[in-house]
Amino acid sequence: MTITGADLRVGLDLGGSKVLGVLLEGDTVRRTLRVPTDLGAEGVVGSAAGVVAGLCEAAGVEPTQLAGVGMALPGIVDPATGTVSHAVNLRMDLPDVPVGALLSERLGGLPVTVENDLNAAALGAGETLGYSDMAYLALGTGLAAGLLLDGRLRRGHAGAAGEVGHLPYRPGGLPCACGQLGCLEMYASGSALDVAWPSRTGSPSPAEVFAAAADGDAAAVAVRDTFVDAVATAVRYLVMTFDVAHVVLGGGVANLGPQLVQHVRDAVERHVAVSPLLAGLGMPERIELTPAGVPVGAVGAALATRGAVDVEVVG
Ligand SMILES: [Zn+2]
Repeated sequence: MTITGADLRVGLDLGGSKVLGVLLEGDTVRRTLRVPTDLGAEGVVGSAAGVVAGLCEAAGVEPTQLAGVGMALPGIVDPATGTVSHAVNLRMDLPDVPVGALLSERLGGLPVTVENDLNAAALGAGETLGYSDMAYLALGTGLAAGLLLDGRLRRGHAGAAGEVGHLPYRPGGLPCACGQLGCLEMYASGSALDVAWPSRTGSPSPAEVFAAAADGDAAAVAVRDTFVDAVATAVRYLVMTFDVAHVVLGGGVANLGPQLVQHVRDAVERHVAVSPLLAGLGMPERIELTPAGVPVGAVGAALATRGAVDVEVVG
């Protein structure tokens, strides 16, 4: 496919271990590039600049042809100022690190927008699936959701919208890094599975425990069912709070594929069976998997450059 150079944008999903970049032409992903992340503000900005240069070179375009570059980062992001606070996974613990301005400077003044990684993932998944009203629930190191409500991102008063991982699940339960006991995140995340079922074969814990459970291992069944019950609870919180049309499961645990969705749907079904009110909401049918093979965070970061605040997803 020929790159015409019309409406070229780069989106970058900056994680603690890798930077995933995409070059978008209109709505189409033309190139992708993945590199290890150098940590700290200098390192992150350097990695980001390297990916932008690499994507442009691979596509045979000049960086000056880009209409914008979007960064998606884990942390409290202020899109209006292009700053990120407490991005501890990127070793940027300080408040208000001006990553947008620093990258723009490295790129000769190109416009750079900055977005929270889950918000970007919600935008990217919404655009890909044609949804304008959804929660993107990431089951990864932690548990949190990006919210796309009526076509707009809901970031929240303090940038904390969708942080369902720190809602109470088990009173007096496992201690969470946030200071509380029994947070959902301690039961419904990839990390929770890693702790409950340390990998015995070197393959990822989620795949291992779900496979062992399918083979009838009683201990694995218990771990799987506890995990699924907690994820189902997170889905219920999201649906009962926002009544979103769709809850899209993403994050590392989503690599489990359709079996994850089936188990969570079944658990939600069991939860709501006692209540005609809840059972009538069609909750299980709202649950689905993030689109396979689509780097939704990077795509969403690129889409966010079209308008930092009011991105409308037609769907
Ligand atoms: Zn917590």
